[in-house]
Amino acid sequence: MTTMKHYLTLILLAIISTSFAQTDAEKAAETVNKNKIEGHIYFIADDLLKGRGTGTAENKIAASYLANALRSYGVKPNPETNSYYQTFNLLQTAPPSLLQVAMNGDNYPHIVAVKAKATALSGDAMYLGYGGEADYKGKDVKGKLIVVRGGTLASSEARAVYGAHKDKQALAIKNGAIGLVELTLLEEALWSRMSHFMGESVQIPDANEAENSENEFIHLWVNTTLEKLEALDKASLSYTIETDGKKEETLVTQNVVGVLEGTDPELKKEYIMYSAHYDHVGIGEPDATGDTIYNGARDNAIGTTAVLSMAENIGKYRTKRSAVFILFTGEEKGLLGSQYYVKHPIFPLKQIVYGFNTDGAGYNNTSLATVIGLSRTTAKKHIVEGAATFGLKAIDDPAPEQGLFDRSDNVSFASRGVPAPTYSTGFDAFDDEINKYYHQAGDEADSLDYDYLLKFYQGYVLSGRLIANDPETPFWVKGDKYEAAGNVLYGKVPSGPIKN
Ligand SMILES: [Zn+2]
Repeated sequence: MTTMKHYLTLILLAIISTSFAQTDAEKAAETVNKNKIEGHIYFIADDLLKGRGTGTAENKIAASYLANALRSYGVKPNPETNSYYQTFNLLQTAPPSLLQVAMNGDNYPHIVAVKAKATALSGDAMYLGYGGEADYKGKDVKGKLIVVRGGTLASSEARAVYGAHKDKQALAIKNGAIGLVELTLLEEALWSRMSHFMGESVQIPDANEAENSENEFIHLWVNTTLEKLEALDKASLSYTIETDGKKEETLVTQNVVGVLEGTDPELKKEYIMYSAHYDHVGIGEPDATGDTIYNGARDNAIGTTAVLSMAENIGKYRTKRSAVFILFTGEEKGLLGSQYYVKHPIFPLKQIVYGFNTDGAGYNNTSLATVIGLSRTTAKKHIVEGAATFGLKAIDDPAPEQGLFDRSDNVSFASRGVPAPTYSTGFDAFDDEINKYYHQAGDEADSLDYDYLLKFYQGYVLSGRLIANDPETPFWVKGDKYEAAGNVLYGKVPSGPIKN
């Protein structure tokens, strides 16, 4: 009897303590547990999802899983569509299969199509130095093909060629030319990297492009040698170009978006964004074991699960500020999902006062949470406390030379002024332990340390709660490179130098 009574008391206590968690730390500890984490990660990184490549059917299945997890936590859908999706098109392009260029009767076999529709052209071309503004002075280039040197007078390196090519194209179009050939003098290794880089690409389509006459404009890079360039008769230049054009395909993909209103009548007008990308690189080259599925457990089933954990927690215990949850697609194609969002915001950017992004290349130190941009916002104290409460030390970017801050979705927001670091699993250097899994087929769910991840998620959830409940709105620290953008976005008076 007494034993029974004692047992009932224990159960009652357990019920009370789970239903009435009081502090933010208790709330974080209560809703995040290992079984749920494993459930999410094992599904998201399952071979069946074939690496969640942007625009694939499996990418859509992953999105559905995330959307319905949000639904199950009571998170409200995207108010614009009443679904949990922000669906959009991407333009995927691949190089032409036929591409031939001859000048003064000589064939040039090393060609990259920057811009090319199917066409067969021939005639006289005009040589215009480096193709800068001054080179066009007094020249009538209407209807002509322009031939120029790649890069600028200062540098004709690959970087300079790439850096100048858009302006040159715009200038040639403005002056009425029908096409632009840039002659480059790159070493073979650099040229092949350049042409690989310009090979398959995915981008957000330019809304105006479709019905624009610029569409027919052809723009090529042609690699040659100094000898050949010097021998070219630039005063009398004829050409032929033939191509079947770049291959274009539309990919339909989606960000996953949900929202929970805050409890404070004033602070709820401000949103904290909890974000992570859920796409990965899909199917790729087989590794030593023959595995071709790039599961992306670390990158970024881990981050995706952080956002789900946050949503479940806030679904149960609201915060003072409102919460917006965004799972981005297209990150691996060049941060496209987050770029699309900032161009088409569902919740205005000026109401998003903080972006708490999570993404990661993996971990090599399970005593840490590595937060890219930790010291760059005034919320540092909350993130340090959040992680420390669950036994982790929050550290800032250990490899600033890698430019990680500007390589994940957080930068799409940060560059517009939203304070937005990226919370990542613990790493203190880019070493073999990171490289072993980073963008490798072996980045699988069963290779993860779930005891560590439990602390990692509880730390993330608590950090988020502390930020969302702080009466003080977080911002960039003084002098940060994105502080000025933040001042503009939120209409703040810049904290300029004090004058006596
Ligand atoms: Zn990632």
